[in-house]
This record gives sequence, structure tokens and C-alpha cells, in this order.
Amino acid sequence: MNVLANTAPASSTPPASPFAVTVLGAQAVGDDGESLKQIQNSSDAEQALLAALDQFKTRIGSYLKPEDQQRVVAAYHFANAAHEGQLRVSGEAYISHPLAVASNLADWHLDPQALIAALLHDVMEDTAITKEQIAENFGKVAAELVDGVSKIDRIENRSFEEAQAENFRKMLLAMTRDVRVILIKLADRLHNMQTLDAMRPEKRRRIANETFDIYAPIANRLGLNSLYRELEELSFRHAYPLRYRVLAKAVKQARGNKREVVGKILESIRTALPKAGIEAEVMGREKHVFGIYCKMREKHLTFSQVLDIYGFRVVVADRNACYQVLGVLHALYQPLPGKFKDYIALPKVNGYQSLHTQLIGPFGTPIEVQIRSAGMNHVAESGVASHWMYKDEQTLTQLQKSTHQWLQSLIELQATSPDNTEFLEHVKFDLFPGEVYVFTPQGKILTLPRGATAVDFAYAVHTDIGNRCISCQINGETVPLRTELRNGDRVEIATASHAHPNPIWLTYVRTGKARAQIRHFMKTRQDDESSTLGERLLTRAISDLGHLPTDIDPIAWTRFLHDTGLRERHDVYAEIGLGLRLAPVVARRLLARDGNLQQDAKAGGSVSIRGTEGVAVKIASCCRPIPGDPIIGLIRKGQGLFVHAHSCPAIGKLHGSKTEWVDVNWDPAVSGQYETYIHVVTREARGVLAKLAAKITEAESNIMNVSMHVDGDAMTSLYFTLHVTGRMHLARIMRGLRGLPEVVRLHRQVETRR
Ligand code: MN
Repeated sequence: MNVLANTAPASSTPPASPFAVTVLGAQAVGDDGESLKQIQNSSDAEQALLAALDQFKTRIGSYLKPEDQQRVVAAYHFANAAHEGQLRVSGEAYISHPLAVASNLADWHLDPQALIAALLHDVMEDTAITKEQIAENFGKVAAELVDGVSKIDRIENRSFEEAQAENFRKMLLAMTRDVRVILIKLADRLHNMQTLDAMRPEKRRRIANETFDIYAPIANRLGLNSLYRELEELSFRHAYPLRYRVLAKAVKQARGNKREVVGKILESIRTALPKAGIEAEVMGREKHVFGIYCKMREKHLTFSQVLDIYGFRVVVADRNACYQVLGVLHALYQPLPGKFKDYIALPKVNGYQSLHTQLIGPFGTPIEVQIRSAGMNHVAESGVASHWMYKDEQTLTQLQKSTHQWLQSLIELQATSPDNTEFLEHVKFDLFPGEVYVFTPQGKILTLPRGATAVDFAYAVHTDIGNRCISCQINGETVPLRTELRNGDRVEIATASHAHPNPIWLTYVRTGKARAQIRHFMKTRQDDESSTLGERLLTRAISDLGHLPTDIDPIAWTRFLHDTGLRERHDVYAEIGLGLRLAPVVARRLLARDGNLQQDAKAGGSVSIRGTEGVAVKIASCCRPIPGDPIIGLIRKGQGLFVHAHSCPAIGKLHGSKTEWVDVNWDPAVSGQYETYIHVVTREARGVLAKLAAKITEAESNIMNVSMHVDGDAMTSLYFTLHVTGRMHLARIMRGLRGLPEVVRLHRQVETRR
């Protein structure tokens, strides 16, 4: 699948694209006259299909036993019959799609079950065939695989964001059971991407984006390198068709111009290596348009500045030869400093191994070279798939183990973040490349995302280590916990039993696991803090009443919990701490003895209002009681205590709503200014307001507002809003006003006049 430059030497078997069904028609001629005749009589599409089938048969013939080949071909005919009459959007017979998918898997030399499942992967969704029928005809394993792919397809067809996370989760779970489901799904997606031109533009863009976000990273993670590149390239082409076209054209032109130089470089490398006694395969490598696009965007370069669009690959027999080749190349051309990467000593998490270097060729042409052994090349091309290849031994390789570990860590993560979208965010992050490799004190290698800190490391080792870490040593040197880790660091975490996570860590941790665990801890802690505060407030309220918390009868607690519907004392404290309940009210209710609560309440069971409670106590604006008025208290969840007058017209309406009534009284030492309203009727208007105002001021009150109304009969109404300290104060003011000869009538108003 990798695009090789035409300068590549003929390898033993040319890697033909399994999907190039339309261009293979001419060369695929059946080995018997029958199929030859069929091809001649068929339409182009049918010819292409038959050619693709022959190609597929040849490919499986190269590595499967004859009886397995027969079963796979039988699956093709079974699928062909099931999809009979169905067409793709492009107009081709539907069977061309599963055939292309299976053909790709055959390219990776997958086992017969996977090939059978690939051929049948759409029959459960699109035809009447059941899982049982597949199991009957082709065995349980193939049926399970088809079922797994169908499940993913079904989720895929649902709506976007939320469903995508769900989709992804199911897919990963399926993958832990059998990674072949994913391989089939990836091959399916690849073929769909390759034939996306038949779709509407907006659908093309949507599928391209999904491929880019979900499937390409999975391919990368599984080490399916060339598949990964191809999915990325196709996603780019369909998501940004214009950019792709412009760039692709420019790349083609640039290559044409430099063909001679590239040929020269290739020739010198091919001559230099045998001279040094190294047998190697050297090939030119065209870089993907998407890779060039990324480089331009990330480094803000113009196209002409991205010169290193030439890459070479050297494949040798073994690991040692890789380093020998490196030496020869660095002697041949000047290497660019800081560009050498050794993925052989420190492989990527997906198992990729290679040496990367950049050189300055003739005429200053920058060139990139990858050097690897044949075995590494194989893993680089087909990654995890190489371990499901058709072979007899069933040993779990290191790569399979690390893939499994990765999946386990995702599942663990999923368990701690119940929100699907958040999970997808983590996974997206964790899927992208850019890892660092660090050592535990025991010499175990841990893989963390780039930018990960010592705290991430601590959580990666164990949740408890993360929650209790206090300091850290990197390579024997004590450094801050926020220190970013680098490749090869040896990290040691010190813990303390009393230590706990710091919210500041959230600003620099990079792994989903660390973030989820710190958040979890903070939430639990917030509840605890409210509860501690609440308990303190209640203890003070109890001692204000002349008691100790131990004076409270356990039965009173039980009754209180029962009445409020709270589960335990801790919850009561938390509600007090959060301001949902008033500590004095709770204290009084807890201290009220036995069933004679009603009588007790009159004496000591009510809450005293002192006027100094601040926002916790509010004077109801509907009735505006002032000290001395008979009052009643109302607790509103989350708002605090409202003090109403007994005469309040609103009380009746509030009854039965979500409120809790409490007995309140004015403390003898109550302080503060309270708003109240009076209505004064006077005989004549002129000068009267000034006289009234003077009397009010004389009585040490403030006028907050006044309005006048001429009633007729030469009578005038004046409405005052005053600040008073209580009923006594108000009485004094009213007495003063009554003494004025102009005042006819005078009374207090419960409500402000409107
Ligand atoms: Mn399909």
C-alpha cells in the first residue's frame, strides 16, 4: 500500500494494491478458457470484479492451505448470493466492496476466519442472513467476527457526538476480545475512503473527519503504518479537496524538477553500501501530501521552504547493519544536527522500530532516510496485523502484550469518567502519537504522552502513588512534581501517608487518568470541607443555647434525620456548611426534648432574630415586619431564613409549598434599621410636607421615600417609607405626627402603596 517511487528495485513480490480493482482488468486473465470468455463478454465493471476475484484467489493461494482456500472462496460465493442485486452508490455490484476488504486482509496474510468474516461483514446488516446461518456454514469464530463488525456499523449509523463515543467504546471492547474485528473494520473504512468520490460533498467531509479522528489514530496505534498514512492522506483529500489539489500538483512538479538529483543520490547510496560490505535494499519514498501540509502549517513555511519532500528507505538484514548503514550515510553526506532519532533502542509504543536521520545532499537538497531491518520493516508496514498472520505457533509477542495493556488502560479510564464525551476526549488525546518513555526504579519502561509530568508518572504507576506523592527524583536529582518528563528519564516518586492531591496539579497533568483521579479526590474533599464547616457552625449554635453537642439525645438525631430525609449526620453538617440549612434552627430542633415540643417551642424552641445575621436572615418584602411585630420564619432551600409578619397576606399562599416553617422571635437586644410604611391624611397641602418631615427627623428616623396624592375636598394623602428600629420607635414617630393640627388621619401600612 505504500507508494514507492518508480526508482525502487524490483523486490521478490511487487506489493500490488489490493484495492486497485479497476486497473487490474487487463492483466488478470484466468488460467482456463472459461473465465477468459466471461471477461470478454462482460461489461467493464464485471470484468474488474472477476479480475479482483482472481487476484484475491492468487493472493490467498500464496499462503493458505488448499482446504482453507476453498472455505474462503465458498464464503465469497455465499456473500455474493446474499448481496445479489445490491449496488454500491458508485453503481458497482455490492460484492466488490467486501471482496476489496478481504483482499486487503489477505495482503496482511490474515487467517481464514478473518477473511471469511471480511467477505461476510455486511450480510447481517444489509441482507436477511443471520449470525446462526454464518456459524452453521463457516463456524462460530467467523460468525462472532461478523457480529462484532456489524455492531460497530450499527452504532456508526446513529447520530454524532455522543454516539461516536459510544461507538468507540464498544469498538474497543470488541477489540479486547478479538483484534481481528478492528482489522476488518479498518480495511472496511479504507475501502470506503478510497471510493468516497461517489458520495455527496458534506457526507464525504463528515466521513473524512471521523476517519481522521478515530480510525487513522487506531491504525497508528496498532502499528499499521502505511494504512495509517493512507487513511490520513485520504481524510485530508476529502476534508480539504482544494488544498489537497493545489499541494499535490505542486509536489508533482517539484519532484519532476529534482528527478535527476534524486536519481543521483539513490545511485551514490546504492554504490556506497556494498563497498562497506553491507547488503541492502534502497528505495525512494514519496512523502505524503498531508505530511507536507502539516509541516507547512506547523512551522509556518511556504511550499518552497519545505524542501525535504524526498525520502529514502534502506532495509538491511539485521539490527547491527542498521547502525553500520547510518555510519556510511553520515560519511557520505553531512547529517543535519539534532535530527537523528533512534527508534530501534527506544521503539514507539506501537512497536515501530527504525533509525531516522536527515542529510544534506548534493546542491543542498535535504533528504530524510529511514534505516531498518527486514523484520522491523514488516512490523512497520503491518504492525499488530503481523501477529495475527496465518501461522501455527500461538505465542503472545511483546507487541501483542503492549497492545493489550493499552486497551486495558483505556477501559480503566472509561470506568472513572462516566461521561462519554469526556472519555472520547481522553482517548483522542491518548491515541495521538508523541510519547515519552521513562523508567521506573525497577527498570520497567512506562509510556506517557509527551508533556507528561512526574505527577502523571505517579498516577501511571498506581492511583495510590499519585494521591500520596510529595516529591520526585529524576535521574537521582530532586525536582518539582510539575517537571516534564523526557525520554529515558529514571523517575522515582516519594510518597507520604498524610499527603493528598493538590488542585494546582490539574493545570499541568497530561494524562486522562491523573486528571480523573485528581478531580475525583477534589470532589470528595469539597463535601468533607463543607461538612467540617457545618459541624463547627452547629456546635457554636448549640453552645449559644447553653448546651454541648453531647447533650443532644441520640433519639433527637434519629428523629431529625427521619424528618429531613437525610441519611446521616455528615449530610446534615454538609447542608449547614453549604448554607442550605441554618445552624440555630437545627440546634433548636435537636435540643427540643420529647413530644412536648410544641409547648417547649414557645419558650425556648424558637430562633431569636438579632438583626446581625447578615444575608442568612431576610425580612420578607411582602409584609416588612419590624421588631415587636409577631413574626414567623420560613426556610427556603438554598436561600436561607425569611421573616414574615403573622399578619402577612402572603403566608396563606406559601403554605404547602416547598418551605419549612420555624418559630422565630425578636431578640430583646435586636438591632438595625427596618423599613416600614405610613399613610398620613392632611387638611391642606401647602407647607405640610416640610412640617411632617421635621417631626419625623425629630423622632430620629430617616425618610426613605415619600409620595403625595391630592384626594379632593382639600385633603392630601402622603405615603412615607421610613427607617425604624422597631414598633416602639414607630409609635413615637406616629405620636409626634398626630400632634400636628393639619393631620386628620394616620396609620401604618403593611404593604407599600402602589
Ligand atoms: Mn462495509
